[in-house]
Amino acid sequence: MNYTNHISKADIAEPLLERFLSYVSIWTTSDSAAADSGVQPSTEQQRVFAKSLEAELKKLGVTDVTVTEHAYVCARIPATKGLESVPPVCFLAHIDTVDEVDGKNVKPQVHKNYDGAAIKLNGGTVLEPSKDKFLAEASGDTIITSDGTTLLGADDKAGIAVIMTGIAEIIAKNIPHGELEIVFSPDEETGHGMDNVPLDWFHSKQCYTFDGGHAGEIEIECFNAYKAEIDFAGRAMHTGTARPDMVNAISMASSFVQMLPPAEKPETTDCRQGFYAPMEISGHIESAKVVLFLRDFEADGMERRINTVKQLASAVEAQFPGGRANVKITQQYLNMFQKIQENPLVADMLKKALLNTGIEPKLVPIRGGTDGSRLTELGLPTPNVFTGGHNFHSKSEWASLAQMVCAEEVLVELVKLWAKER
Ligand SMILES: [Zn+2]
Repeated sequence: MNYTNHISKADIAEPLLERFLSYVSIWTTSDSAAADSGVQPSTEQQRVFAKSLEAELKKLGVTDVTVTEHAYVCARIPATKGLESVPPVCFLAHIDTVDEVDGKNVKPQVHKNYDGAAIKLNGGTVLEPSKDKFLAEASGDTIITSDGTTLLGADDKAGIAVIMTGIAEIIAKNIPHGELEIVFSPDEETGHGMDNVPLDWFHSKQCYTFDGGHAGEIEIECFNAYKAEIDFAGRAMHTGTARPDMVNAISMASSFVQMLPPAEKPETTDCRQGFYAPMEISGHIESAKVVLFLRDFEADGMERRINTVKQLASAVEAQFPGGRANVKITQQYLNMFQKIQENPLVADMLKKALLNTGIEPKLVPIRGGTDGSRLTELGLPTPNVFTGGHNFHSKSEWASLAQMVCAEEVLVELVKLWAKER
């Protein structure tokens, strides 16, 4: 489907593009290692961006806005007179970009009236419409890429630009609304995005994250996610006189990884299939460690995976007499589907908002987690909404201006729909 008719709405498309270009130019790469050690924000440059968003909101006329010590931007707009009993709704997006790909000195390139040909960027980065059906469909649209040497940062500056432009429109056109809340959060990419979210601050009992991909895609389901850490204890000996007493923990760890089902790896699965992902292997003869991510959409599927890990650890012990394998399992996040289903209005409103703006909703399960899954777990059902960004976490990341406009229209429509809810 082609969405180019939406860019003709210049009063939205122009300020949206201007915001997007200015946001992606600001360096906000987060730092996984620092975040893992409990530092938030994991990088100070995120706070700088948070402060500038605070200033922009104030300029729009939002008076109740703060940046917390952990760099969450929290803004609240009181309900229009007479709509105080409408349920408050919160919109979220994240300010950081992933640290796996360079996100400093992003130089966005605007391809106006994109001709549908391959886009050749610096550093050998090529965007090939023949291999990217969404790019092929985007001819006539305004496409934004990086210069090819960095990521673009549409993940999630497209979300921030969409929310900011939506709020600006609501204020400028005096669109009646219930109480609105906006949260821009740090460190989403590190998995710590909700670690210090000020839960007590929220009036809203439901939220929407704008942190998704192609137009129409909405997400109310994500993986169940657990981490397995397997510690292998061996017995070190001089290698010259090792026979028969040495038990090599390195061999144990690699044997364990080899036993994982080859058809259930991240690189051999897609759609609704879960997997075992070895993330780290380390150690020496005396002791070694494997860190494994377990992912499954179903709770019983996850139970099966946890049992398999334990059985494989026992099998390794049997294979290496005298060696020990100790399994530790920790929960990372849970599939938000069930909790969102318990409060169907939140997702129903979203589907309706898409349909009312002429966009066919497409439910896609997220093969990962989101800030939304954490918030949902914490009691605030939070579906995720497309923003028009594509090829996230790569130098070939691109964004569609027409689809960003669609996302902005969905946000404004959501506000209108909720305003009718008493
Ligand atoms: Zn994101």
